[in-house]
Amino acid sequence: MDFAISEEHRMMVDSVRQFREKELMPLEKEFLLKCNLDTEVRHGLERKGREAGFWALEVPAQYGGLDVGQLAMCLINEELFKHPAMFEFGGSPEPALYLCNDEQKQRFFYPIINGDKHSCYAFTEPDAGSDFARIRTTAVRDGDRWIINGTKTFISYVEGADFVILFTTSNSKAGARGITCFLVEKGTPGFSIVRQIPTMGDNWDPHELLFTDCAVPDANRLGEIDGGFAVADYQLTHGRLKIGAFQLGIAQRSIDMAVEWAKQRTTWGKPIASRQAIQWMLADSEVELEAARLLVYRAGWMADAKQKIRNEAFIAKLYATEMAQRVTDRCLQIFGGLGYTRELPIQSFFRQVRVWRIGHGTAEIHRWMIARNMLGQSSRD
Ligand SMILES: Cc1cc2nc3c(=O)[nH]c(=O)nc-3n(C[C@H](O)[C@H](O)[C@H](O)COP(=O)(O)OP(=O)(O)OC[C@H]3O[C@@H](n4cnc5c(N)ncnc54)[C@H](O)[C@@H]3O)c2cc1C
Repeated sequence: MDFAISEEHRMMVDSVRQFREKELMPLEKEFLLKCNLDTEVRHGLERKGREAGFWALEVPAQYGGLDVGQLAMCLINEELFKHPAMFEFGGSPEPALYLCNDEQKQRFFYPIINGDKHSCYAFTEPDAGSDFARIRTTAVRDGDRWIINGTKTFISYVEGADFVILFTTSNSKAGARGITCFLVEKGTPGFSIVRQIPTMGDNWDPHELLFTDCAVPDANRLGEIDGGFAVADYQLTHGRLKIGAFQLGIAQRSIDMAVEWAKQRTTWGKPIASRQAIQWMLADSEVELEAARLLVYRAGWMADAKQKIRNEAFIAKLYATEMAQRVTDRCLQIFGGLGYTRELPIQSFFRQVRVWRIGHGTAEIHRWMIARNMLGQSSRD
């Protein structure tokens, strides 16, 4: 294993840093008080990113994207996530949408690359989160359409989305092997948004969705009938790598701020930076951040080398999300009472990182999957 951060990578990260400083940092104070970035503001930032050349970054050149690669995307997202608004550049379709057929690409895939549409994805149900095989939103074939009934919960980014990547059961007896995926447009009769779910996060108040006799044409089926698990797995693996990279930026900014504060803040006539208790918190944070960075970059590099990263993405996301929790906790502690206030981003980071030990597969399920790989067990064991 031999990977390096090239000069080109460094220059790219430097331009992302300039974008963050110019466009995102002025929004920080208001964001911390409001605990939210409106969809309109988020889409406006996407447009500004596009003007600055940050658009369709990870999209292969054959579809008109910049094709910067997954390692570069890790570096870019690390830089962006030093801001608590947790903003990502636009124009990149969700991984599952690469499985669109030619006709679907025109309706769903290219409009995202063109900036005309946004999407979100819906697996989770009130009775099925980690245990994906328990999905009970049914899709029943009726000629050249499917009738969908069921409830989805915790669905992020619905407000700004034009369509949902929806996972249903087309054969409930087959469990995970009976899942079929559809692209369901907002406004389709029978598809409604029931309520927003308030959370402890700043950016996220996900939604509950209801599908009642919702008729969706077979032309909107993504992938094979009963083949939805592979679509979900593909979507989640790449999402996990991204989430790993987010943690690096969050931890780096928290550590940078804590170091500066520790040098300034004086107690009993000395800066707190001179106290071993503080130094150990900083040192442990630095070591863990560097370890996470290597895991995330390695997985990004392997993806660029066209190697499978399912297990590496589990490992990177598991370690990085738990690292970010510990690091933001220590950094908040170093700031004392100030760390707890909404005048600093530390408390926002501390609260927000919590979701990533749950979303895209919980830490417990990640450990299970990693152990299963070690033990050579299959998904049926
Ligand atoms: C803010 C937010 C945004 C989200 N956005 C989306 C979204 O956009 N789309 C979407 O589809 N979903 C989304 N989710 C849902 C998320 O993916 C699920 O919450 C997650 O998969 C866990 O499922 P669950 O909540 O049903 O927990 P459960 O599966 O009920 O698990 C509960 C606890 O039991 C543990 N557990 C379960 N099974 C085992 C086992 N076999 N061994 C050991 N421990 C186990 C879990 O690790 C967890 O600690 C979001 C959630 C949140 C909080």
